[in-house]
Amino acid sequence: MELQFLGATGTVTGSKYLVTIDDKKILVDCGLYQGVKHYRQMNRQPLPVKAEELSAIVLTHAHLDHSGYLPLLIKQGYSGAVYATPGTCELCKILLPDSGFLQEEDAKYAKYKGYSKHNPPLPLYTEEDARRALKHLWPSPFGEFHEILPGITIRFRPAGHILGAACVELFDGHEMLVFTGDVGRPDDVIMYPPESLKRADYLVMESTYGDRTHLSMDAEEALASAITETASAGGTVLIPAFAVGRAQMVLHILEKLRADNRIPKLPIYLNSPMAIKATEVFHRFHEKHRLTEDDCRRIDSMTHYVRTIEESKALADQSFPGIIVSASGMASGGRVLHHLKHILPNHRNSVLFVGYQAMGTRGEKLVNGAASIKIHGQDVPVRAKIRDFDGFSAHADSGQIVSWLKSIKTPPRQVFVTHGEESAAAAMAEKVSAELGWNARVPELLEKVTLK
Ligand SMILES: [Zn+2]
Repeated sequence: MELQFLGATGTVTGSKYLVTIDDKKILVDCGLYQGVKHYRQMNRQPLPVKAEELSAIVLTHAHLDHSGYLPLLIKQGYSGAVYATPGTCELCKILLPDSGFLQEEDAKYAKYKGYSKHNPPLPLYTEEDARRALKHLWPSPFGEFHEILPGITIRFRPAGHILGAACVELFDGHEMLVFTGDVGRPDDVIMYPPESLKRADYLVMESTYGDRTHLSMDAEEALASAITETASAGGTVLIPAFAVGRAQMVLHILEKLRADNRIPKLPIYLNSPMAIKATEVFHRFHEKHRLTEDDCRRIDSMTHYVRTIEESKALADQSFPGIIVSASGMASGGRVLHHLKHILPNHRNSVLFVGYQAMGTRGEKLVNGAASIKIHGQDVPVRAKIRDFDGFSAHADSGQIVSWLKSIKTPPRQVFVTHGEESAAAAMAEKVSAELGWNARVPELLEKVTLK
């Protein structure tokens, strides 16, 4: 068995791992690079393996940094199955076409601005390409062994994190290679804790929060007081949230805080067509998350769902206190940008971040105190209060991951630490070596290792 790292080395995006067993090539995760330009441009560089040479693709979960490269591989000639849990398949049906649509929008914008190398600028893939890719999804339930190729099986184990997210066990009859994917926290508000792993001869693990510990403060209380303060100053609260998972969690917490009279009864808007669709998927998979049918119903009756562009524009012009939840969560695109343009210049308003902010995104600049940020080519001054609540993150912190790994009784022969900024990945590798006594290191991009 051979493993090659095709992404997510020294960064949190672009997850892609190529596993070669005899003449079979399996790609585990198929993610887009996101965030700073240097990484986004890497989406355009060819992979060291041709799409048609791949025998199988396996996805850990639906986030675009794990699934968003798929339409491109299908466009380039991959014709096989894409194995993913049923929840992941459902979420991909929402996320991938939207990603294609955004690629087309970016290409149009580049043409308008005249800054693309291509003439006319070409999208990485289109919405239509993404829809074609969906036909290759092969829903594969958690907990069962799936023989994806003769003699090669995979099994998905619940990883918490988001609906459908899995750790992947890949077994060739000799070696058990395990990919953690993104690991949720044990105390997540809407997802169950990640299931323990039993065996991993080799382990590829994430390290998003590898150098951090979630603050033990009461995040809900802090959120409630930030909202109450803003409302009494007559301001609007904007909560940028990932459409899938975080938006539903935020609405659930707001609903509880409102019911307990811990925040004023302000109007609450969800302005993200994708988040609205994702909320519908949550309704269909009740046994896979902590939100009951009653919880979902209460969220529905509290929330104003903003669907059309006209409604979205009208909401941005509105000036009375309210709470707006909108995507994307790192303010890298989407409707949240229109709200930021209106909300940031006014000191009465606040912007509350509830998820991981990747390096180079507007979200990261805002939480690090930027005095102004660029939106649609325009400098927008930041006078609103900016708060970062990492207590709501969908990722386990370094201590939580290490305790979760303790269920593996025989030490893996090698641990590869990926999916973290350089310092986070290095800190995670050190912690795994120090506290578990395992061999752990951070691999290089395109590095190949033989596992035997
Ligand atoms: Zn993720």
